[in-house]
Amino acid sequence: MKQSELIANLEATASALAKRAVTVRIRQPINEQARGETYHAGGGRVVIDLAPEVFDSLRGFVRTFTHEAAHAKLHAVHAPTKDINRPSASFKISAAAMAGLLTHPRMSKRETEAESQAQAWRDAIRERYIIAANTPTSDENLIQVLRVLYRIGE
Ligand SMILES: [Zn+2]
Repeated sequence: MKQSELIANLEATASALAKRAVTVRIRQPINEQARGETYHAGGGRVVIDLAPEVFDSLRGFVRTFTHEAAHAKLHAVHAPTKDINRPSASFKISAAAMAGLLTHPRMSKRETEAESQAQAWRDAIRERYIIAANTPTSDENLIQVLRVLYRIGE
């Protein structure tokens, strides 16, 4: 699948799940510690960055994509607007500081809510497809899981 086609499929699916327009970029997020990050880009538009390594395995892709789509649905419009044009990895934070940030009560509430929503979406995929640790992110596999998610969001 061409990159532009992949992006179009990811955006259609994320937008259906989040019930709002979502832009998807495949690049290291602004936060150097994150594999996925969701921003409120103003005007109600939401942007999700997915690091290229998210596509190394189908299981990893499903884990990160559903988590970020859940943030797009539940939290992104409440989150502070970010300058989405900041370069990849330009927000520097240590792994320890990042772990501390995620346990901040407001952050941890959001993370718990996102994971709960994401898990429901993953369960819907699991009803139909077995995703082993080494299941590849072939075009066919990506399309199948995105189709399940898109139908949920319709
Ligand atoms: Zn999160």
